[in-house]
Amino acid sequence: MRYSEMFLPTTKETPSDAEIASHQLMLRAGMIRKLAGGIYSYLPLGYRVIRKVENIVREEMNRAGAQEVLLPAVQPAELWMESGRWNMYGKELLRVRDRHNRDYCIGPTHEEVITALVRDEIQTYRQLPRNLYQIQTKFRDEIRPRFGIMRSREFGMKDAYSFDATEEGAEESYRKMFDAYNRIFTRCGLHFRPVEADSGNIGGSFSHEFMVTADSGEDAMVHCTSCQYAANLEKAECPRPKEGASQGAECLPLEEVHTPDVRTIEEVCAYLDVAPRDVVKTMIFMCDAKPVAVLVRGDEEINEAKLKNYLGCDSLELSMDDTILEVTGSPRGFAGPIGIKCRIIADHSLNGMENFVVGGNREDYHIKNCNSTRDFGTSEYADLRVIREGDMCPRCGGEISIVRGIEVGHVFKLGTKYSKAMNATFLDRDGKEKHMIMGCYGIGISRTVAACIEQSHDGDGIIWPMSIAPFHVIITPVNMKDEQISRAAEEMYERFVADGIEVILDDRDERAGVKFKDADLIGVPLRVTVGSRGLADGTVEVKFRQSGKVDKIPISTASDFVTGAITDV
Ligand code: ATP
Ligand code: MG
Repeated sequence: MRYSEMFLPTTKETPSDAEIASHQLMLRAGMIRKLAGGIYSYLPLGYRVIRKVENIVREEMNRAGAQEVLLPAVQPAELWMESGRWNMYGKELLRVRDRHNRDYCIGPTHEEVITALVRDEIQTYRQLPRNLYQIQTKFRDEIRPRFGIMRSREFGMKDAYSFDATEEGAEESYRKMFDAYNRIFTRCGLHFRPVEADSGNIGGSFSHEFMVTADSGEDAMVHCTSCQYAANLEKAECPRPKEGASQGAECLPLEEVHTPDVRTIEEVCAYLDVAPRDVVKTMIFMCDAKPVAVLVRGDEEINEAKLKNYLGCDSLELSMDDTILEVTGSPRGFAGPIGIKCRIIADHSLNGMENFVVGGNREDYHIKNCNSTRDFGTSEYADLRVIREGDMCPRCGGEISIVRGIEVGHVFKLGTKYSKAMNATFLDRDGKEKHMIMGCYGIGISRTVAACIEQSHDGDGIIWPMSIAPFHVIITPVNMKDEQISRAAEEMYERFVADGIEVILDDRDERAGVKFKDADLIGVPLRVTVGSRGLADGTVEVKFRQSGKVDKIPISTASDFVTGAITDV
């Protein structure tokens, strides 16, 4: 492409509403423009990168045996009623009504559509396994779209769905996608890590998120500094303490203390002059409409995902004041385990713990010297807390570290959740009718592009890896008015195009400094500078955007040199 003809509106100023580097740079490099909150247009440069990522995804999905389809974006409500998600999905689902007053949604994901399609077309085990994927625009009415296309409302996703006849087959399908995802993100030049994620009632390690490490990431990534263990914060297991929390201290007698209007952990600590780890908080949850008291140490947090899995319930929420009053006999802020009228579950770290402070189940009172073994009406202990930096690794005992990450992909074994709800069955070898076992696998195409910029940029702009760069090389003639220079640049451009190199010729009548700035901003991996000094001895300068390395190359071999640099990676 000739720069002078391109639709490439770059800007010098950093847009004030863009908080993170990728958002700022995509706007400045003329890749995207906002149409409405969380809705963006892709300009030519941006769309070229999107297409590069899509092609890598497509190649690897095909290689893994998946077949490409394209499903409708607009989906009838009836399908979502069958799966039960029409009412469950909430406000992220954009609902629309047609002229006949029929309800539809704009697809945020496609489990319903694909399950209906496969249910109608597949009858026997001989037609299984199948894996179908598409690359398509999704719409989710995110409550807080932000960071440009990192978390937008309309975004590009690759979603794949596998259907198997057996558990082993489903696990194999999962593994193939897991491996394909590793290849995809490696080819996109990303530093990433698959982390174990919560798989709800499926259990096992059958859900992984692919996380790109970046300080601006919205997710916390837990990993061990000694072994390969990695999980997201929701899923990360805390090892069960060997001896419980007992310090071998003497159990002191219970003591009720007057604590007027002292409710939070901070207030209790300040008032009684104790540390948060010597206080136990009691939270009342409603688990499928039944109250449960959940206990963790004052310096820990309850992990609701782990709690929900442990309880095996469909719905879990914190109780309202009237339930708290009913089970504790006091208003909010004074709940404790002693004498409470509901099931009690405590985190492992409380097992054997001595002489700590709890709520008194009486307005304005707490109790000192509670001892779990002596005073609890329960011996129900479980892993319920949120893991913390420096904790012990649940696998090897090493040290846990927590870093920020961006979720770019997610693989999930669904089991029979949708095939049961929507009656997607097949006739097995033994002539019995069975539900297909499903998996679903998503990659945020647009988010992957943003994540790549987060990881790979500097003060001057984007630094594209060769594999997804919008162009491989930009030819920069330092002065278009100098006929010798412009002719040499034109000739080189023709040669590069003929050799299949994706090249921009910066034929603008601008100062060299302006051209260099734009080349750095849009992040083209190689820049070939054509100037009179080089031409005098028949050479050009090739500069690598990433390393800053500069090579002086004879004009006659420039195309070979560039081709080598492109295929080298
Ligand atoms: P998140 O927790 O970030 O909202 P999710 O768990 O809702 O993601 P999935 O339903 O697993 O995401 O979707 C598959 C992939 O689609 C994600 O891994 C992510 O890369 C991408 N994605 C999801 N929501 C968005 C969004 N609002 N904008 C851009 N990409 C998104
Ligand atoms: Mg989401």
